[in-house]
Amino acid sequence: MTSAAGVVVVGGGQAGFSVVSALRGAGYDGPVTVFADEPHLPYQRPPLSKKAHTEPDGVRVDLVPESFYRERDIELRLGEGVTALDTARRTVVAGTGARLPYEHLVLATGARNRPLPVPGAELTGVHALRSLDDALAVGRALATARDVVVVGGGFIGLELAQVAAARGAHVTVVELADRLLSRAVSPQLQEHLRDRHERSGVRVLTGTAVQAIEGSQGRVRQVVTDVGALPADLVVYGIGAVPRDELARDACLAVDDGVIVDEQLRSVSDPWISAVGDCARHPHPHADGLVRLESVQNATDQGALVGRRIAGASAPYASLPWFWSDQGDIKLQIAGLRAPSDTVRLVAGDSAERLAAYAFRDDRLVAVETLNWAAEHLAARRLLERDTPVRAADLAGSTLGALARARRNAEVRA
Ligand code: NAP
Repeated sequence: MTSAAGVVVVGGGQAGFSVVSALRGAGYDGPVTVFADEPHLPYQRPPLSKKAHTEPDGVRVDLVPESFYRERDIELRLGEGVTALDTARRTVVAGTGARLPYEHLVLATGARNRPLPVPGAELTGVHALRSLDDALAVGRALATARDVVVVGGGFIGLELAQVAAARGAHVTVVELADRLLSRAVSPQLQEHLRDRHERSGVRVLTGTAVQAIEGSQGRVRQVVTDVGALPADLVVYGIGAVPRDELARDACLAVDDGVIVDEQLRSVSDPWISAVGDCARHPHPHADGLVRLESVQNATDQGALVGRRIAGASAPYASLPWFWSDQGDIKLQIAGLRAPSDTVRLVAGDSAERLAAYAFRDDRLVAVETLNWAAEHLAARRLLERDTPVRAADLAGSTLGALARARRNAEVRA
């Protein structure tokens, strides 16, 4: 099973960490090496847009301490990105010129934020938010910012808008689409989400295009949109991400907005290479065709599956997709995958703050979005993970929580 070449993982994020931790957890005893662009130990990204980070020492986002890797003989090559793959010789080439052979290669390269394509995006005070260093820079800027413009009403934008509003800034979210989170959340739930952001003092402009960012003496002063100029001393943008699949493309592996892999997450072009997390496009039993998912759950579960497979236990990838986003007091959770053509039914919980949107396809529940209703989200995950379908009639006058309890009790009695 093992050989001197061992496993090389490219990418030190959540997915890469999950691969190496599963490899050792499953007893793999060959060499394991992780190449990572960033100089930091692998860290969690979710907190970066949910808090204002100001001091490097105050940020505790490492996934595990350095001793975890040392004790398991996992070599971390931090700040050393891989620049090329030599698939014929099964070797990676690092930016330093170093070459390392592999038996198995795992691409866990993630995604990069789309750049903001307007004049002035390079001004001081305009920030992307993806890395720990980005988050520290945004945190420092937030300490004095009064007028914050957030470009993009997606996950980064809405989480950061609430962080900035909680610090007393005037916050405007500028979203190009007609709705917030237009791909991720159903139109029915989105209206409520918008209402909650507006009630917390965040101004939301949808269907609005940023045309330019203007400054004086190199520092941002205002954001020019098609409905007028917005004063700004801080601009943060989150307008989507693109997979980092160029290593695979340059090595002539199949790539189409992500590295194309089979149900075991192996490249369809090369059985010695796998791809996991944001950079992988894969078949999934909950999707029609191939999907690429950008989430912690997907990165963690795919990494673990590949780690276990290399150690000897193979299985197709079928984890239920789920997401969460904390936007100030708003907790958005999603279980399953909704398609635009699904029928959505919105239901309020026992308190006005709790809402759930149930998506049905051919009268079968396929996804559930909740606002501030964690119990219903967990029940949705339990039910969607099982084969027994949930029909619209099963939910009449009930909740998924009650339905899950009833089904469990029936199983115990049977
Ligand atoms: P995102 O969630 O895809 O949202 C980007 C938003 O910006 C979309 O609504 C998009 O509209 C809009 N947009 C695109 N171009 C624009 C423009 N020129 N002006 C204004 N709005 C524009 O992406 P993100 O917020 O940038 O996040 C990046 C990555 O981090 C994603 O992978 C995301 O999943 C991840 N992340 C996840 C979480 C979480 O799960 N809680 C939190 C933070 C970040 P269209 O959809 O119409 O293009």
